[in-house]
Amino acid sequence: MIIVMKADILPESPEVAQVIRLAERYPNVKADARKIQGATRVLTEVYLLGSTATLPQEPFEEFPAVEKVIRIRERYRSIGRHEGQVEAIGFTYRGIRFSQEDFHIFPGLCAVDSPENTDSMFRALQTLGIRTTRAGAYKPRTSPYDFQGHGKTCLPYVFELAGKYGIQIIAMEVTHEGQIGEIRDALATAGHPTGVMLQIGTRNAQNFELLKAVGQQQEFPVLFKRGMGITLDESLNACEYVATAGNSNIIFCLRGMKTQLGEPHRNLVDFGHVPVVRRLTRLPVCVDPSHAVGKKAAAPDGILDIQHVTAQGVIAGANMVLVDFHPRPEQALCDGPQALLLEELAYFIQDTELVRRAYVERCKLRAEFSPTAS
Ligand code: PEP
Ligand code: MN
Repeated sequence: MIIVMKADILPESPEVAQVIRLAERYPNVKADARKIQGATRVLTEVYLLGSTATLPQEPFEEFPAVEKVIRIRERYRSIGRHEGQVEAIGFTYRGIRFSQEDFHIFPGLCAVDSPENTDSMFRALQTLGIRTTRAGAYKPRTSPYDFQGHGKTCLPYVFELAGKYGIQIIAMEVTHEGQIGEIRDALATAGHPTGVMLQIGTRNAQNFELLKAVGQQQEFPVLFKRGMGITLDESLNACEYVATAGNSNIIFCLRGMKTQLGEPHRNLVDFGHVPVVRRLTRLPVCVDPSHAVGKKAAAPDGILDIQHVTAQGVIAGANMVLVDFHPRPEQALCDGPQALLLEELAYFIQDTELVRRAYVERCKLRAEFSPTAS
C-alpha cells in the first residue's frame, strides 16, 4: 500500500511519523517514507510493506495530511504505475529534468580512448547545444583480451573536458561497486564540473549486489539497460532492487535482445516495448539504437538503420536516446563500426527532434479524439 501525502509534507515531518506509527502497529508491517520527484511536483510517499493484504485503508485516509491511499499490485511495488497513481516518477539532476514527459539525446563515446578524441566529441556537442553525453571508462567485454576501458585513469581528463564544454551529465557504466567511489572521488577532485549517470549494462542486469549498491546511494541517477536474454518482467524486477534499496532516480533503457533472429542487426530491436514500460512503470524510458543495430547500414532512402530504429523508439514515446558517436571510428577501441561520425551529429539530432515533435503531435491528436484519455 502507498500513502501519498499532501503537497509540502516532507518525509521527516510529524504527519509522516504519525502515519508510520499507525502502520507499524499492525503485525509484520514496515513503513518507509520516500521523497518522490513527480512530473509536476515533489511529494512524499509512505510505502507500507509486509503483511498489507488485510490492512484497512480508511484509518490512513482520515489523516488530514494524507492525499490518497493506493493499494499496489504485487508486481513492481516501487517503480510500478498503480491504479490511481497518475504521477510519473521523475527527477532533476544537474538542472536537467527526466520524466516520462521529457526528452533528451545522449550522443557520445562508447569507450573513452584518448583525451584528443574526448575533446573533439565534447566540443562538437557544445557547438550543437547538447549538455548530455555518454563516455565509457569501465567496459565489460566478451573477450578478456579486448580493451577493458581506461578505468579511473581517464576520469580526471574526462571530467575536466566535460566542464570545459558545458557537459552536465555523462552516462558511464559501472561494473563493480568500487567504481562508484572512484567516480565520486574523481568528481570531487575535479571540483564537480559535471555529473554522472551510473549505467548498469545488459550483462549486469541481474547482478543483484551491484543493483543494491547503485540503489543505496542517491547522489547519481541510474541508467538501467534491459537484460538482453531475460524477460521484460525480470528486467523490471531488477529495477525494483535499485528502487527498494533507496534510489528511484532510474531510467529504463531498451537496447535490443540477443538472438540470431535479429540478424543482420547485432540484436533484435525491442523498441516496441517503449509504451509497455511507460504503462507498467513510472520510469522515463531510453532507447539505445547503436547497441541494438550494431552497424552503419542505410536503407535505400539513405537513412541509416540506426536512425530508423531511433525513430521507432521516439515515435512511441521514448524519453531519452543513448547513441554512439566517434570523431575517428577507425581509432575506437570498442564498437567503432556502429559509431556515427561527428559530421553526422547535427543531422542525427535534427532528424530525432523531428520525430519527437511528431510524437507530441500524435499525443495532441489522441487528446482531440478522446478528450478524457490521460
Ligand atoms: C554500452 O552501452 O556501452 C554497453 C556495453 O551496452 P550494453 O550493456 O547494452 O551492451
Ligand atoms: Mn558499446
